[in-house]
Amino acid sequence: MKLYNTLARKIEEFIPNEEGKVKIYTCGPTVYHYAHIGNMRNYIGHDILVRTFDFLGYQVTRAMNITDVGHLTSDSDSGEDKMEVAKKRENKTAYEIADFYTDAFFKDFYALNNKQPDIVSPATANIDSYIRIIEKLIKDDIAYQSGGNIYFDISKVQDYYCLTNHQEDKMVVGVRDGVEFDNNKRNQADFALWFTTSKFANHEMVWDSPFGTGYPGWHIECSGISIKYLGEYLDIHGGGVDNIFPHHTNEIAQSEAYLGHKWCNYWFHNEHLLDDTGKMSKSHGEFLTVSLLADKGYDPLSFRFLCLNSHYRKQMLFSYDSLNQAETTLKKIRNKIANINDSGELDNELYASYIASFKNALEDDLNTANAISVLYEVLKDDRVNGHTKLALLEKFDSVFALELLKEDEKLENDAEIMALIEKRAEAKKNKDFELADSIRADLYQKGIELVDTREGTTYKIVGS
Ligand code: AMP
Ligand code: ZN
Repeated sequence: MKLYNTLARKIEEFIPNEEGKVKIYTCGPTVYHYAHIGNMRNYIGHDILVRTFDFLGYQVTRAMNITDVGHLTSDSDSGEDKMEVAKKRENKTAYEIADFYTDAFFKDFYALNNKQPDIVSPATANIDSYIRIIEKLIKDDIAYQSGGNIYFDISKVQDYYCLTNHQEDKMVVGVRDGVEFDNNKRNQADFALWFTTSKFANHEMVWDSPFGTGYPGWHIECSGISIKYLGEYLDIHGGGVDNIFPHHTNEIAQSEAYLGHKWCNYWFHNEHLLDDTGKMSKSHGEFLTVSLLADKGYDPLSFRFLCLNSHYRKQMLFSYDSLNQAETTLKKIRNKIANINDSGELDNELYASYIASFKNALEDDLNTANAISVLYEVLKDDRVNGHTKLALLEKFDSVFALELLKEDEKLENDAEIMALIEKRAEAKKNKDFELADSIRADLYQKGIELVDTREGTTYKIVGS
């Protein structure tokens, strides 16, 4: 398996810490608002990673947090906790906000057929783990108390900027939006591990700690949850590219300072989904969610299919045109599959050869677009009998998760379509154009396009 590793800045052969096993950590959503389709592109990318390792026969253990405290609007230590922003917006408690948006997140997450991570844990449920890490960092003189808060002293670690190719000048205060100068810090690049209420009065979510009543910073939660549930050695840690700095940079610094050894070997980052205004962002106000697409009549899996057509490391521009095209193509594929006769014996040779091509595509840094090309090849290869085709497609769908063989997606068979064509002709004769048009539209929705000719009406598969 070859995977691009942000830490190495190149594609590398994946070697797990423990043979046959892979431990993956995914940074979860900040539940102060709905997750938009950009966030979901990131989770689809992680799902393909997990399903590929399943397909390759690894035993996967994956953990994901839910950020329900401590993520400030600057992504650093200035601004306000995003949960507090949502509380004011909606006049609810922080816990009510977290519950509501966690449910909304998982509704869309599962509608996209993303597998449930083995461990899902909210930041607020693991305070003891953060306290343990922070206490050790203070004892080792790597963290310090100032102005009521606890900060991590980045000068105490070597290679703080390892994940960003040492581009320190781009990271300094004043260059990044919303990051303010902080008098309490020894170095401006130091980051907060624990805030006390002296900094933000009236913060709802607070806990007692040896450093004062307060709440954890955003970065410490992922280190705490990952180490607690996945242990001291992690294989892969991932998120969106915006997580590289400061979030993942800080996670590495504090985790390795605490553990005293290298923590995670591979860093997996998904590029952004853009809309015509630029990067989708929850703070922009209006944004698109999977539920909204479903309300408009789209199959959420059409969005998944759209994402799989581009590489996870390439920016992707969302448009309804491309979504419509993805939806039509997916229907066409499902229709073709529904019409395959499960006949013949398994052709071991062809089966193995197509599985090898599929595996090659995925092992090449998750090249899902090439894996989809293999699917097309199988569909049009007359040498492959029906039974072998279906066996291959089922296997491919264990990674794609596009419900390619879904029974109820089966389209009307020829006799049923012909009956509807007749019904439409009858309706036209009776000048019931509304009924005639609705029959045409319903069939089109199912991937069947009616073609009127002088000899009468026939049909074809949409797009063929
Ligand atoms: P958040 O809920 O803001 O913490 O974001 C959840 C995940 O979505 C993070 O890992 C982000 O890196 C990722 N993300 C945020 N915006 C986008 C976007 N426009 N496209 C893809 N991923 C994104
Ligand atoms: Zn994280």
